[in-house]
Amino acid sequence: MSENIKNLTCIECPMGCSITVRVENGVAIEVSGNNCVRGKLYAENEVVCPKRVITTTVRLTNGDVVSVKTNMPVEKSKVFEIMQKINKVVASAPVRIGDVLVEDIGCGASLVATDDRD
Ligand code: SF4
Repeated sequence: MSENIKNLTCIECPMGCSITVRVENGVAIEVSGNNCVRGKLYAENEVVCPKRVITTTVRLTNGDVVSVKTNMPVEKSKVFEIMQKINKVVASAPVRIGDVLVEDIGCGASLVATDDRD
């Protein structure tokens, strides 16, 4: 049986709680320091399969850029691969907040616009 303690900073909200997780055989068996359930879930997932929402920009055919994000967190180990795909995307204006620019850019996540561009 392998057991260790991991100290994390929760990134689910601006409070940035310091969370301690006791991990046994790759599974979180005790979480402390979190101020809410979101923090507990974040910590449990972080020690097993860390995920992140990607926020970046995409080029438009008119030379402008628009801010985008994945509509769900993607596995941290896949972020570089997905960013390589995003860097090749060129969308057509106009773009509205919430428009899906690419479906399933990776890990089942869609790439959505987070701003308007005409
Ligand atoms: S544990 Fe809850 S309150 Fe603390 S940073 Fe995470 S989401 Fe925010």
